[in-house]
Amino acid sequence: MADRYTGELWKIQSFVSGFENNAYLLTCNRTNKSVVIDTPNRPVDLLQAARSTNVEAILITHNHWDHLEGFEDVLVATNAPVGIGSADAHALPVKPQTTIDVSNGTLLQVGDITLRCITTPGHTVGSTCYMLPSERPGATPHVFTGDTLFPGGPGKSGSADAFRQLVDSIEKQLLSLPGETVVLPGHGQQTTIRESQLEFEVFASGQHREDLHGDVTWTGDNS
Ligand SMILES: [Zn+2]
Repeated sequence: MADRYTGELWKIQSFVSGFENNAYLLTCNRTNKSVVIDTPNRPVDLLQAARSTNVEAILITHNHWDHLEGFEDVLVATNAPVGIGSADAHALPVKPQTTIDVSNGTLLQVGDITLRCITTPGHTVGSTCYMLPSERPGATPHVFTGDTLFPGGPGKSGSADAFRQLVDSIEKQLLSLPGETVVLPGHGQQTTIRESQLEFEVFASGQHREDLHGDVTWTGDNS
């Protein structure tokens, strides 16, 4: 069964397939217009849910294969425009007919839903997060973080430079979001920005070796 989060204006369904990947379907309650976020392998349940909506956009968090194995299936089924960070777009398995600009700060409107694109290089050069702000005072914001931020740590980094860039992206672009923001990552369980801030403080107060990168956790031994 898909996990489900409901706001006043929208609902989010999450689906696990492929390499334990999360895909999300975000649907406007009023217009039934929707957005698919990431396209892992065999997106059967995702597509079944998506068919009862009008998919207006396919948004990709980054270009790693496990987030794109189902891309062609989703593209063929929906024929929707595709958004992916420009530095990651070359790796799409099929060239979409229509693309969406997802550069930093761009606002995407789908029915009553507004998503803000956040550029977060590090895990990949074109990694992009999608922020669903609070719809009214007191409502919970959500952010789709792909493999940039997980519960307990950042995504994998391929070099020390990439790791520094990833930490910089997380610190400036994500940990500055409201603490109550729910983090919906590309694999595994959700967390919150507040929880991530607390974990990051432990990391930031510690000593780390110069060439630190790879699979890093905020609170583990990274010396
Ligand atoms: Zn990845």
